[in-house]
Amino acid sequence: MSEHEYQRHVEKEHAIIDGIDVSGIWNRMWVPRETTDFDFTNLDKVRDLKGAESIGWCYQCAQCIGVCPVDNVGSYGPRKLYSKLQNGMDLFTHSDLWMCTTCNNCLRVCPKGVDMMKIMPAVREQAILEGNVPVELQEMLQNVAEYGNPMGESARKRVRWMKKLDEPIRDLSKEPGDVDVLWYVSDYFSYHPRGIDAAQAMARVFNRLGIDFGVLGREEKCDGDSQRLCGESGLFEELVEHNHAMFEKNPHERLVVSDPHAYNAFKNHYPELTGNEYPVQHYTQFLAEHIDQLKQMFTERFERKVTFHDPCYLGRHNGEYEAPRTLIEAIPGIEFMEMYRCKQQGYCCGGGGGGMWLDGLTGEHTSERLSENRVREAIMVGAEVLVVCCPYEVSRFEDAVKSTDNEGALEVMDIIEIIDMCINNKE
Ligand code: SF4
Ligand code: SF4
Repeated sequence: MSEHEYQRHVEKEHAIIDGIDVSGIWNRMWVPRETTDFDFTNLDKVRDLKGAESIGWCYQCAQCIGVCPVDNVGSYGPRKLYSKLQNGMDLFTHSDLWMCTTCNNCLRVCPKGVDMMKIMPAVREQAILEGNVPVELQEMLQNVAEYGNPMGESARKRVRWMKKLDEPIRDLSKEPGDVDVLWYVSDYFSYHPRGIDAAQAMARVFNRLGIDFGVLGREEKCDGDSQRLCGESGLFEELVEHNHAMFEKNPHERLVVSDPHAYNAFKNHYPELTGNEYPVQHYTQFLAEHIDQLKQMFTERFERKVTFHDPCYLGRHNGEYEAPRTLIEAIPGIEFMEMYRCKQQGYCCGGGGGGMWLDGLTGEHTSERLSENRVREAIMVGAEVLVVCCPYEVSRFEDAVKSTDNEGALEVMDIIEIIDMCINNKE
């Protein structure tokens, strides 16, 4: 290399071109970066925990950031967590610990298998033991421990929705025994006003189909999946023990659930503790098997433009994308359109992994709620109705419709409510 050419590559201390200071910043990429003086203490604290080891496998490729729903409205994702840990963040006391909704989208694309669904519960469990838990979440966990549901309602009130309904429903807490379908109703279908609408619709549809079904009534308790993901493994174990005993007491052919979180718990996590396999189906899977019968029962048309929100715990976690669509597309008159982020790439509503009870904390670190972002997408594709099949979602999305000033522009309905309307002529 000539002296002249060499000079061209030396960074100048001062370089002003056309009045702009361009002092060699571009050239600093050749300066060796110090990569050995990180303090790994806080990273080690995380990766030494049983279940959280995979955080150490991250090689910073950033595939996860583009798909993380929280990063979409803030700054988050496994890569960012790793980098912060490397630079000294104490995750056990940091708000980042509670931002992940365990939606599973990062694991879907991560080439190294960094598993937030295991990392988060492990670190959260330790944080809870050290007394570092957000107040709003603490309240929910206490309610579940004391009353068996996150709302803190009495077990007696769990069956109120049935009493207001003129339909035969076998309450297994009063008449235990064999039943074809044991329907696990879930907390939000039992207690939340909009969940109750869907529970009543489900009972009517089951009866019209001639299903022999029963519910656990006041003996049903929260399935515990969200509490497990919040780090409360002890509480989860208690709930498993209770619900498993109730399932044993009432022999059944199928365990049909309203809630994808319950589906995930009974399918993937109860067996680890009880050694039992459960004949569990989400209600959309169960009803999709009765699609021919349902088609013959439709007497009303539902002439609306609808789109569907895939629940993370039915779709990405358990691979069921078709059953809800089979039902929706069978409804006479419906005009169905997909959102841009659907199926494997479905956008999280923000309710998973404890997010349902953390809107206060997450609101401080994001530009908008995930549910608000999703509602805007539904409107963008031209939907008049956002259709869901998870008990968390009607309440989350109805709130988001209000907070984004879209009342009147978008309705939120559970699939079962539409089926009920079209076969039972219910308004
Ligand atoms: S995709 Fe996996 S390996 Fe890549 S940055 Fe994210 S967590 Fe790390
Ligand atoms: S699980 Fe979902 S919310 Fe959590 S970091 Fe991964 S993509 Fe983000």
